[in-house]
Order: sequence, then C-alpha cells, then structure tokens
Amino acid sequence: MHITKIFKSHTIAYSFELFPPKSQEASEQLFATISDLSPLELAYVSVTYGAGGSTRDLTHDLVVRIQRETDLTVVSHLTCVGSTKDEIKSILDTYAESGIENILSLRGDPPKGKVFEPVPGGFGYAAELVAFIRKHYPQMGIGVAGYPEGHPETPNRLLEMDYLKAKVDAGADYICTQLFFDNNAFYDFSERCELAGIRVPIVAGIAPVTSVKLMERMAEVSAGTLFPARFIKALRRAENEDYMKKVGIHWATEQVRDLIDHNVSGIHLYTLNKSNATRQIYDSLGVTTTRYLV
Ligand code: FAD
Repeated sequence: MHITKIFKSHTIAYSFELFPPKSQEASEQLFATISDLSPLELAYVSVTYGAGGSTRDLTHDLVVRIQRETDLTVVSHLTCVGSTKDEIKSILDTYAESGIENILSLRGDPPKGKVFEPVPGGFGYAAELVAFIRKHYPQMGIGVAGYPEGHPETPNRLLEMDYLKAKVDAGADYICTQLFFDNNAFYDFSERCELAGIRVPIVAGIAPVTSVKLMERMAEVSAGTLFPARFIKALRRAENEDYMKKVGIHWATEQVRDLIDHNVSGIHLYTLNKSNATRQIYDSLGVTTTRYLV
C-alpha cells in the first residue's frame, strides 16, 4: 500500500524496522520474528540499507521476499552512498517491477571510519534523491529521515530545519525520526517542523535498549542521540542483563504510551530483527493488535 494511504487509514501507523540477515539461518530467524509479530497487524515494515551501501542485494532480496511471502507493506531504505544516478535508477526500476511502492530516501552512512563523499555522477544529499525519485517514479511513496536532537554534521539547528523542509518540498510524503529516549525532544522537533511549514506525518523512532552492548552501539550509530540521566540511572540500577532488559523495555513502553497520548502519526520500532522486546511493549500497553490502539 502507498504510504499516504497508510497514514489516511491509520489513526497511528505502527511500523517495525528490520535489517537484512547475512545467513540463511538468520533469514529463517527473521521470518519467524515476522510471523511472531504479525498478529500486531502492522501498518508497514521497513528494511535498512547497510552503511556504505554494503547490503544492497541483501536489502533487495529481503524486501522482495517480504512482499512476496507476507501481507505486509514494505518500505525499502535507499541511500546515495557509493552509487551513481544510473545505478540508483536501476535499483528503483527493479523495485518498481517487484511491486515495491515505498522508499525511505536517505543520504546514507559512509563506510565505518570514512566521511561521506558523493561519487561522481551521484547524489550529495537525500533531498536530491527525493527529487529524482519523485520525477522518475511519481507513483512511489517517499519517506525521509528527521533528527529530533539534530544531525551531528549540521550544528546550525535553524539551517537543519531548512534542509529538512527542502526534502519535504522535493516530494517526501513523511518523516521518520532517528531514535530518541526523551519524548520532549520529539515534541519540540514536531513543533519546529510546524513552524518551518512542514506538514507531512512525522513517525517517532523508538528503540528498546536490551543490553549495555546495544546501548553503546546505539550511541555510536545514532550519533547525537541523548541518553537522559534518569534513563542511565535506571539502567545502572539493574543488577544484571536480564533486569537491564526489563528497564529498557519499560522505558520504551512508557515512551510509546506517552506518544499515543499525544496523538503521534506513527511509531516506528527498531526491532533489531527480534520479536521479544516488541511483543513485551505491546503486551504492557494491554493490546494484542495495534489496529485499535489510539
Ligand atoms: P541528508 O538529509 O541529506 O542530510 C545529511 C547532512 O547534510 C545533514 O547534516 C543535513 O543537515 C545536511 N544537509 C542536508 N542538505 C544540505 C544542503 N543542501 N547543504 C548543506 N548541508 C545539507 N543510513 C544507512 O546507511 N542506511 C539506512 O538504512 C539508514 N536508515 C535510517 C533510517 C532512519 C529513520 C534514520 C533517521 C537514519 C537512517 N540512516 C541510515 C542514517 C542516515 O543515512 C545518516 O544519518 C546520514 O548521515 C544522513 O542521512 P539523511 O538522509 O538524513 O541525509
């Protein structure tokens, strides 16, 4: 389903993020996760594109398999990293032929330890990719990334909103945010979007922290994200990894509950291909399906 239809037909659109598995075993595990989460009746799932474009084929294979084997709507992430316009066009052609209707258009993370540099004949910013998709694939639903706590490469937070607006003006249908642990950051960001004249739905990115290792990884890949002192204190109080997981899931559940109370357009859970934490969040909200959760 086209993303604009999804937002029209859901009071709050619940979605999950998946990443492409690297082995057959991990792939079967992922499909078990998808099956486990299917009673929640999600609005869509999105599939990431590895840093530096490293999972291009794996992303494509997973997106197409989900499209073929499940009833889920899939949003495929696509980045500008390491690809010329012609290469991006050929990826988009394949997606269009496979019936993929939605793309999350990103500039992308460079390979580890490198800074982003556009390839000759490629795109420098996500806004350029959005404009390209809108021009050549007008039927596609397009999402873009937003950063409630700011993107580390643009310290000027006013200018950053102009760049976000440029992505929306180029043709984006919605914004999905970077993960955050303090909802006030999201509410303030939403207000700043409103002030900037951005009128598309904004989906809140929520990640349950289930271990110290994961927290450290999140701090690295989502640079700029604040871990509030209250949260760190609660995590530190946990006596072992099991309790830490409970604390992380509790925190994420409270975030989701509060976002629902604030009539957010969508909630995107970073599942890390596992169903356990996600199921516990919805169980704690008291529901078995997200369909009527408003
Ligand atoms: P842009 O919007 O192009 O912004 C990049 C930087 O340039 C920002 O600092 C911005 O403020 C600045 N900028 C924008 N326009 C201009 C301009 N005209 N002039 C000067 N500066 C400008 N990465 C992956 O590799 N694969 C993924 O699957 C992936 N999924 C993601 C999903 C979500 C929901 C989010 C929030 C991020 C995801 N990322 C992913 C990370 C993202 O690719 C990085 O944060 C990347 O550094 C920026 O991508 P962007 O699309 O926000 O870029």
